[in-house]
Amino acid sequence: MAHKTLNPESPSDFAIDPLRVEFRSAETELAFQRHHLNRSRSSLRLTLIFCSVFYLAFAMTDVAALGYGRVALVLLVGRMLVAITAIMGLHLIRDPSEPVAAQWLVASAAEVVGMATFMLIVWFRPSEIPWHAMSLCIMLIVVYVFIPNRLIIAKGIAVAATAAFIMIAVDKGNLTPSDALTMSMLLLLANSFGLVAARRYHRLWRDEYRGLMDLKHLSVRDHLTGSYNRRHLHEMQLPTEIARARRYKHWLTMVVCDIDHFKSINDAYGHQTGDAVLQHVSGMLQAMTREHVDSVVRYGGEEFLLILSQTDLDGALYVAERLRAAIADNPTVDAAGRSIATTASFGVLAVNFSVVGKEVTEKSLIAAADTLLYEAKKSGRNNIQCSEWSDESTGQGLSFRPLTIYDSGASDMCLRHVDAA
Ligand code: GH3
Ligand code: MG
Ligand code: MG
Repeated sequence: MAHKTLNPESPSDFAIDPLRVEFRSAETELAFQRHHLNRSRSSLRLTLIFCSVFYLAFAMTDVAALGYGRVALVLLVGRMLVAITAIMGLHLIRDPSEPVAAQWLVASAAEVVGMATFMLIVWFRPSEIPWHAMSLCIMLIVVYVFIPNRLIIAKGIAVAATAAFIMIAVDKGNLTPSDALTMSMLLLLANSFGLVAARRYHRLWRDEYRGLMDLKHLSVRDHLTGSYNRRHLHEMQLPTEIARARRYKHWLTMVVCDIDHFKSINDAYGHQTGDAVLQHVSGMLQAMTREHVDSVVRYGGEEFLLILSQTDLDGALYVAERLRAAIADNPTVDAAGRSIATTASFGVLAVNFSVVGKEVTEKSLIAAADTLLYEAKKSGRNNIQCSEWSDESTGQGLSFRPLTIYDSGASDMCLRHVDAA
């Protein structure tokens, strides 16, 4: 099955929501998150370990402030809870079925438990509010910038923690009005800078992802027609499709489509009009095959190769005939407004991978499909020649023979084929 390549030429695929700083398209956002997963998982791991160690180490300050006693013990339990949450989280993100959701859950849980414990500490140690305010500022930056989470969640947790802290501080801290104001301003500053930095990071990562997708698109697509290019066919699509068809014993069909008398279009109307015809035909091939399942590859100048997954000969013939008719019935209108009629010939080769042996190779399949195309050209163009790959089992390797000939002139959509063997 062909994987979807997000289209960098389609701005809607990559538009970023300014509030959430996420891709507007949920599909793009998920693809980005998956792409980013390794990096964000390792930074989550590091941050959780770091935070746990510091939470536990700071238990010393509870003892220093409160002495050995019941309250210090309660706070120690709270601190241990943070570490336990972190450890459980680290375990959870190791191999989950929904890694992106699991990572967000772990990050959010750690943030909530961490902040709740901190509030408990502030509650029991109200005499050190200015120090706590400083600690909270650092923690806010950690939440915004260092713990990889959705910005909207991080923002919610940071703002809620700030509000809770101010309420406790005002209630229990015995602060002068100027102290309370300074502290509030400091926290506002930390939230603002944290948010700005986080927004920058979120946007930067997504810009980087978009750039990467741009490059990927350029490297796998043909510039003129937008079809996949030949390099991608050989490096990725064909080996993958053949391996998959072999593993699941599926049908796989290759359709070679070549525009008829294309040279004379170039000669009569010029190269640019020829290009317009190529784009028009490629557009029809792409629009009339299954998105994300079939692949359309520009194989040569005016020759396209279609890979139809899990498609047998009848299914492929149905598709090929629709394409043949569409190309013949829909002339290209060039930049000068001229209407250029064109036709194409097709070679259709269907392979049943539940019966063929390991000897079937990419090269032999393409060669066989090409031979069928040649037959179609010989028999007058604007038609389809097809065959099922057959394993002769003669010990002399594989051969294919044209079992069927589709006579497109006979009946418009008739897919009954004639045994030519
Ligand atoms: P047939 O029906 O036998 O396929 O004849 P044809 O004229 O289509 O085939 P031929 O191989 O003789 O000519 C193909 C032409 O396609 C020749 C080449 O100049 C032209 N061509 C190849 N690439 C491009 C391209 O990117 N743009 C344009 N405009 N023409 C191209
Ligand atoms: Mg041609
Ligand atoms: Mg050709």
